[in-house]
Amino acid sequence: MKVGILKEPKDEARVAMLPEAVKTLISWGTEVCVESGAGQSAYADDDAYRSTGAEIKQRAEVLTESDMICGIQALPLEEISKMKPDAVLLGQMGALFNPELTKFLLEQKRTAFSMELVPRTTRAQSMDVLSSMATVLGYKATLLAANSLPRFFPMFMTAAGSITPARVLVIGAGVAGLQAIATAKRLGATVFAFDVRQAAKEEVLSIGAKFIDVAGATEDKAAGGYAVEQSADFIQRQKDTIHEHAQKADIIITTAQIPGRKAPLLVEERTVHAMKAGSVIVDLAASSGGNCALTQADQTININGVRIIGVGNLAAELPQDASKMYGKNYLNFLKLIIKDGAINLNFEDDIVLGTCVCHAGEPKNSRIAEMIKQ
Ligand code: NAD
Repeated sequence: MKVGILKEPKDEARVAMLPEAVKTLISWGTEVCVESGAGQSAYADDDAYRSTGAEIKQRAEVLTESDMICGIQALPLEEISKMKPDAVLLGQMGALFNPELTKFLLEQKRTAFSMELVPRTTRAQSMDVLSSMATVLGYKATLLAANSLPRFFPMFMTAAGSITPARVLVIGAGVAGLQAIATAKRLGATVFAFDVRQAAKEEVLSIGAKFIDVAGATEDKAAGGYAVEQSADFIQRQKDTIHEHAQKADIIITTAQIPGRKAPLLVEERTVHAMKAGSVIVDLAASSGGNCALTQADQTININGVRIIGVGNLAAELPQDASKMYGKNYLNFLKLIIKDGAINLNFEDDIVLGTCVCHAGEPKNSRIAEMIKQ
């Protein structure tokens, strides 16, 4: 059985597996072929892959010879057509939001796994690429903000006077938010955060930030630890509280998301206008609509001296460690579908079933099946 690793598109510096992950895969009795240059942007050259025992091939050969292809971004449809009929395709293909791709995979009777569908259960944690990439995003968001800020982060007492620490407000304290808080704390900022989940409050306090309470949040145990949509009254009170805190903040990092829905709008236009010139907003929810009313995805805009960074593919800006984490998540998932060097799909396993877009012309993930019915 041969696993193929392709070079990602031009705007993507990560690679699905670095040589260290490929080495482990080969030790399980599989062959691996890697497209020439696949790891280049993540600082892994062809020789590093060769030294693991992998073959270096041209793209067309990897596509046509592999029994399984592990990638990050979705493959173009014409390339999927070139794969062996029974080859398995894996990637973070956003299948729930990409009906054209999903329908194509079904029509072609392909077997495909979309890594963002990995169930968010304790057993699946080590395979969860969304968590890994959220860690990268939170860290990078703080560094991006620090680099853009015309001020220091830490407090300084110098002969030239004293510098007060930067004030950072983090909205949404999930995986990315907590990492943003921890990074801002390490750099010496004073950090405030808030979230609609009580569990997040404990975590925020435990890493030394201050928690802003807004009473009356809705929580739902059935949401499995995730946020649910809030009432209009609560969201308005949240917006007012953010408006008040934003005027004192140097940086706002927003990460608030609700799985499968548009991100809640929490930083209003009037709030941006009320902020100090030189302040920075980093909106990590930009791709799902943004938490700030003025955010433009993949762009940095300047509103009266307040810069709003609508973050694009920030994970690709830390390609080495992001690829290392991706590869580890992949290996943990592949352990479930590779046995004795061969593909072995056990749909009795909830992780295999939940991550599978389709197999033999049938949708497997329940949300994909619902989407197809509509
Ligand atoms: P996410 O990216 O869906 O959302 C980010 C944060 O935004 C969440 O903390 C959410 O509560 C918050 N949020 C949503 N609406 C908000 C609002 N109106 N105001 C303020 N905050 C708002 O979430 P995530 O970071 O992926 O994870 C959230 C939780 O799930 C965490 O507790 C995390 O530990 C847990 N988790 C578990 C697993 C697993 O068990 N495999 C994997 C990932 C995350």
